[in-house]
Amino acid sequence: MFDYATCRDAFSWANERGELGSLVNMAAACVDRHARGPGADRVALRYLRRDGSTASIDYAALAAATNRFANVLASLGVKRGETVFSLLGRVHELYVAALGTLKAGAVFCPLFSAFGPEPIEARLNLGAAKVVVTTASFYAKKIAPIRKNVPSLAHVLIIDGALGGTTDLRPLMNGASETFEPAPTRADDWALLHFTSGTTGKPKGAMHAHGALVQHYVTAKYALDLRPGDTFWCTADPGWVTGMSYGILAPLAIGVTSVVDEADFDAERWYRILEEERVSVWYTAPTAVRMLMKAGPELIGDRRFPALRFIASVGEPLNPEAVAWSNEILRRPIHDNWWQTETGGIMIANYAAMSIKPGSMGKPMPGIDAAIVERLPGGGVKVIDEPDVEGELALKQPWPSMFRGYLGEQRRYEACFSGDWYLSGDLCRRDEEGYYWFVGRADDIIKSAGHLIGPFEVESALMEHPAVAEAGVIGKPDPVAMEAVKAFVSLKRGYEPSETLRRELLGFSRQRLGAAIAPKEIAFIAELPRTRSGKIMRRLLKARELGLPEGDLSTLEGGR
Ligand code: ATP
Ligand code: MG
Repeated sequence: MFDYATCRDAFSWANERGELGSLVNMAAACVDRHARGPGADRVALRYLRRDGSTASIDYAALAAATNRFANVLASLGVKRGETVFSLLGRVHELYVAALGTLKAGAVFCPLFSAFGPEPIEARLNLGAAKVVVTTASFYAKKIAPIRKNVPSLAHVLIIDGALGGTTDLRPLMNGASETFEPAPTRADDWALLHFTSGTTGKPKGAMHAHGALVQHYVTAKYALDLRPGDTFWCTADPGWVTGMSYGILAPLAIGVTSVVDEADFDAERWYRILEEERVSVWYTAPTAVRMLMKAGPELIGDRRFPALRFIASVGEPLNPEAVAWSNEILRRPIHDNWWQTETGGIMIANYAAMSIKPGSMGKPMPGIDAAIVERLPGGGVKVIDEPDVEGELALKQPWPSMFRGYLGEQRRYEACFSGDWYLSGDLCRRDEEGYYWFVGRADDIIKSAGHLIGPFEVESALMEHPAVAEAGVIGKPDPVAMEAVKAFVSLKRGYEPSETLRRELLGFSRQRLGAAIAPKEIAFIAELPRTRSGKIMRRLLKARELGLPEGDLSTLEGGR
C-alpha cells in the first residue's frame, strides 16, 4: 500500500536506483536484468498485429534479439553517441531496434510512421541520422525521395527486404551473435531524441540521457501502480515520448508484460483488447477516452473487465466528465497525470491510494518539487505560496529524466530555466490540499473583459452537455472585451448540428460558467484538428478563424 505523504518523506533516488541493479545502460537494466534471473521466460512484449494474429516474446528472447541488433550496429561501424532513427509502425523490429541501439550506446530516435517526407528529412538532418530502420514501403514513399538531402545517412536497414541503396536487416540479424556486452553508458550519456508534439509551434528535439530510467521505474511503480505480474497497455505510439518512456522502458524496468497493438484506434477493438488480454493497468490519453465516449456505450456489449485495476491518462487535461464516464462504464476512475517531452517522465499524478478530484492532475511525484511561480519582468521568478492562485507550473531542477537540451537550440533550452526552476509554459493552480489544477498553456490563455480564461474550463463545461463529444476553445480579438471566447464543438453519434442546439449550448455554458467566461460564439465542426499524439491544436483553430498563417503542420493528424 502506498501512502503519499509517507512515501514522499522516505523517498531517495539512490535507493530507487539501487533497486534497478548496477546496470546503468537503460536497455540492459530493462531487459538483461530480467533475462538473467527468474523472469527470463516471462512475456515482455505481446504483439497484437493488424491482421488479428499475435506473437509474444519473453525477456530472454528479447535480450538475445536486442543483442543481435547491437552487434549489427557494431558491424556497420556505428559508434557510441551516433544516431539511429526508426520509421516503423508498432512492430517487433521497432522494439528490438530501440533497445538494441541503447545497448550499443548509440542514440535512438523513433519517428512516427505517418510522417511525410518533409518532416522526416528535417528530423533526420537535425539529429544527423547515421542509420534508419524502416520498411520497404515506407522507404520507397518517404525516405528515397529525400535521401540525397540527408548526407549523414550511411545505412538504411529494411526489415522486410531490400531496395537499391538499402540493406536487408534480416540476414544481418540472423548472422549476428546473441551475446553483446552493453555499452557502459553513464547516467549523463545521451540516449534518446524525442520531438515534442508541435501543439504550440514547430516541434523541438528534446535530448534524454540513460539516467532517466530510474524516473521511469519510480513513476511506473507509484504513478501507474505497476507491479510484477501485471499486464500493461500503454496506447501511445513510440514516436511520442509517452510511447517510449511508458510503452517500452518503464514496464520493462518493472518486468511486466506489455501489450503492443499495431492497429490504430478502434473503439470495439480496444474494448476487446482490454477484456481478452486481461489488461490490468492501462495508460491512455484523454483524446482516446473522448473517442470511446463519442462511440457510445453500446459497443461494449456484454464485455467485462475484471482484470482492470488501474487506469491513467496523460497528454491533455482530463475533463471531469471523462472520469465520471470511466467510473460508470469501466467501473474504475481514470487517474490523470501531467508531464512533458521535456520532463522525460511523469511529474504530477493522481495515485492509487489517493482520492481523485476529477479535473485535477494530482500531486507531485515523490522526489519532485513543484511550485506555482510568476515570471518577474526583469528576469527571475517569484514562488507563489498561497493556494488557489494561478501561475506558471515550475519544477525544481535537476531530476533524473530531465531533458538535457533542445538539439540545435541552446538558447531556447536556456530560456526554460530560471535559477533552480524549470518553467513548464503551462499555467496551473494548487489548492490548499496540494492538488494541482491545469488552467491552460500560457499560449492558449484567453484575456476577456478583465478575466483570464483557460480553454479547458470552458471545454469541460461544454462536455457536460449530452450532445457534446469534444470542444476546442479559442480567444478571438474583440474591440470591446479584448478577446471573445469562441468554442468549436463536435457532436456525439446521434446528434446533428442545428441552430436550436447551438442556442441551447450557448445557454447551457452561460448557466454553468457565467456570462463573462461562457463562449459568445459556438461553431460545429466534424472533427477538431489535433496532433498525431492526440492534442487539440487550438493554434490552428485560431489561425483558421482569423485567416492567419497555419504554421508548422508536420504533426497534424491527417496532414502530410
Ligand atoms: P509543443 O511543445 O511542441 O508545442 P506539446 O507541448 O503538446 O507540443 P508534449 O511534450 O507532447 O508536447 O506535451 C506536453 C504538454 O501536454 C504539457 O506541457 C501540457 O500542456 C499538456 N499536458 C500533458 N499532460 C497533461 C495533463 N495531464 N493535463 C493537462 N495538460 C497536459
Ligand atoms: Mg510543449
